[in-house]
Amino acid sequence: MVHEFQYRAPRSLSELLALMAEHGTSAKVLAGGTDLLPNIRMGIAKPAFVVDCKRLPDADRLVFSPAEGLRMGHGVTISAVLRDRTIREKFPLLAEAAHELASHQVRNRATVAGNVVNASPCSDMALPLLCLDAVAVLTSTSGERTVSFREFFTGPKATVMKPGEFLAEIRVPASSADRKGRYAKLKRVKGHDLGIVGVMLASSPEGLRVAVSSAAPTPVLVSGIGRGLDAEAVDALVQKAIKPIDDVRCTAEYRRYMVGAYIRRLLPEVSR
Ligand SMILES: Cc1cc2nc3c(=O)[nH]c(=O)nc-3n(C[C@H](O)[C@H](O)[C@H](O)COP(=O)(O)OP(=O)(O)OC[C@H]3O[C@@H](n4cnc5c(N)ncnc54)[C@H](O)[C@@H]3O)c2cc1C
Repeated sequence: MVHEFQYRAPRSLSELLALMAEHGTSAKVLAGGTDLLPNIRMGIAKPAFVVDCKRLPDADRLVFSPAEGLRMGHGVTISAVLRDRTIREKFPLLAEAAHELASHQVRNRATVAGNVVNASPCSDMALPLLCLDAVAVLTSTSGERTVSFREFFTGPKATVMKPGEFLAEIRVPASSADRKGRYAKLKRVKGHDLGIVGVMLASSPEGLRVAVSSAAPTPVLVSGIGRGLDAEAVDALVQKAIKPIDDVRCTAEYRRYMVGAYIRRLLPEVSR
């Protein structure tokens, strides 16, 4: 039998935060539901209370200004990222990752916020957010705080978020605009599958950044890689930072091998 829960769809942020404060760990936010609903159906998540956030005003807000950078509301879907011209032109790494996430049907429902709060080690959207110095704006009845994605992920499906906190917005600084990069993702099924391993290379003020998914308990960022290193040297730095495991998808050894293969493939394109 499917687990039963109470459902509310507040129309204001204050109402949502009050419900979350009242119900604490027994409440779950529902965004696109592409992680939450399968988890409820499989008995992995058993919330007593589900709070739908899609009816809040400005949920889908996606704006860029040179002063504030890119501001993505919690309801911005993966498809909306792909459609947005400013993102394609100024933050192409976000579009590259979005393009690799699941299928059209899932992308139309799935949100960027849900992807990062779900905190899967194979999250696609975590990689560009790490490479672009993005931050999460977390809000609750106790106030608001801003957390860099470098500190956001703490383990498989675990983040720094406290009970009652809501990810209201994701911000990408204007200084990260126009960063070049490339993303490669290994999947079992072409077109729509979670990653076996994902590697993003991005230019940065200090030289190069490499972000890797599905190769450690959390998505990994290796920053501070100076310009001019060859692929073997970059791979050696990245191999030290990852901790892949054997699982049903493949072995740790194969993951390490593919991380190196993608670095060798993408580095010439990013260094051009
Ligand atoms: C067939 C299929 C294929 C998939 N393929 C991929 C893939 O290739 N790559 C990938 O990265 N993911 C993939 N996923 C996972 C999923 O689609 C993404 O993680 C998606 O972005 C989740 O967003 P959502 O809006 O559906 O989140 P939901 O399912 O609504 O929520 C996910 C979690 O985040 C919480 N949450 C959501 N929004 C907020 C918020 N604003 N504040 C606080 N908590 C919040 C929820 O309570 C829940 O715990 C796939 C899923 C399916 C079903």
